[in-house]
Amino acid sequence: MAHTTGDQEPISVEEHLELILNRITELPPYDQPLLETLGLPVVEDVISPLSLPSFDNSAMDGYAVVFRDVADATPEKPVHLPVVGEIAAGQTKIFAMSPGTAVKIMTGAPIPTGCDAVVPVEHTDDGLAKVLIHQAPTEAQHIRRVGEDVQKGEVILHAGDRIDARRVGLLASVGIGRVATRPRPRVVIMSTGSELVEPEGVLGRDQIFDSNSYLLAAAARNAGAIAYRVAASPDDPTAFTEALSDQLVRADLVVTSGGVSKGTHDVVKEALASLGTVSFHEVAMQPGKPQGFGVIGEDSTPIFTLPGNPVSAYVSFEMFVTPALRKMMGREPYQRSMVRAKLTEPVRSMPGRRQFLRGYFEPKVGGSTVTPVGGAGSHLLGGLSRSNAFIVLGEDVTSAQVGSDVPVILLDRDY
Ligand code: AMP
Ligand code: MG
Repeated sequence: MAHTTGDQEPISVEEHLELILNRITELPPYDQPLLETLGLPVVEDVISPLSLPSFDNSAMDGYAVVFRDVADATPEKPVHLPVVGEIAAGQTKIFAMSPGTAVKIMTGAPIPTGCDAVVPVEHTDDGLAKVLIHQAPTEAQHIRRVGEDVQKGEVILHAGDRIDARRVGLLASVGIGRVATRPRPRVVIMSTGSELVEPEGVLGRDQIFDSNSYLLAAAARNAGAIAYRVAASPDDPTAFTEALSDQLVRADLVVTSGGVSKGTHDVVKEALASLGTVSFHEVAMQPGKPQGFGVIGEDSTPIFTLPGNPVSAYVSFEMFVTPALRKMMGREPYQRSMVRAKLTEPVRSMPGRRQFLRGYFEPKVGGSTVTPVGGAGSHLLGGLSRSNAFIVLGEDVTSAQVGSDVPVILLDRDY
């Protein structure tokens, strides 16, 4: 693989993403506990081992009856029946009933043989030994029939369907406690920079708090990954290399931030360039121009080296790392879709670079709008926090007027 490209022409956002997605492979699937699979697609069809309901049961608290016995019951001419027993939910003994009798029955309890309707308790006097029925049910009313919802042998989830709360409920109800999905990737997030201090620590002169490792770990979790955040390593290639190799055992993917610009303390580049497996190049975008991607270690673990400025790091993560994580989980589409919105303020952009401006998107009937927030500087975390979208201005665009229709990437929408 190529490495530092130095003075070469920047590559496009698409070219960089293609390089990444060609290299990233889906993680092998295995059976995982149901709740762990929330948000993940199933890798194969799931067939129901059971019908739902799995036996005829009552939809009401009331009385199991023979329909013919009570078909003419009215408030004026109620029907009296002897109550010969009671069936609760979870009852295992089979109960048969004869015409001319009633059996007290609870919601979810098995319907006795011979019964073809349930009279809700509200339509009776709730009698114990004898019951007075003053409203007739219709035939088969309030009986939940075996298989009326799901049939044994039916495909209840198709390969690729994503597990959500409703599907978790269905799987549990047919007795499935594990399901085959690709696992969540374990992502190690590392910050670099001698100026960085852990939040809650004491800031020395010219020091700043490490925000990137938190920002990116949160974004990784949002994408469905398991994020391991590592405290910042100082600008020392040996210390960085040691920290990195310590982390490799638990990483399916590594993300670093900082140390890749053209300054003199670009430790990440310095430490990784010699391996020859990580390519550093410029991508025609703003923010996020310096990008590095490749593989390291015995297991050829993918690594992304993102720029240090927090906004650049975040934009890079959303545009390149999130699609990679989605591919590892088999979650298509890998890239966020775009919507269009009308600009409420004019904007400018650099020629030859795709600009990702932070914006606040408001859905509106008759034309959604987007308002730039926070300016173009890639250190502006306050502005980033007030945004919910990227306004995308193409390489050939240098300005856009109020009212122009621009493509927008929504950051809080699930693709
Ligand atoms: P670098 O790419 O290391 O030269 O960093 C570029 C800018 O981003 C500098 O102003 C750094 O102080 C800042 N920066 C780098 N890493 C972080 C971080 N983890 N948290 C906050 N700011 C950072
Ligand atoms: Mg730095």
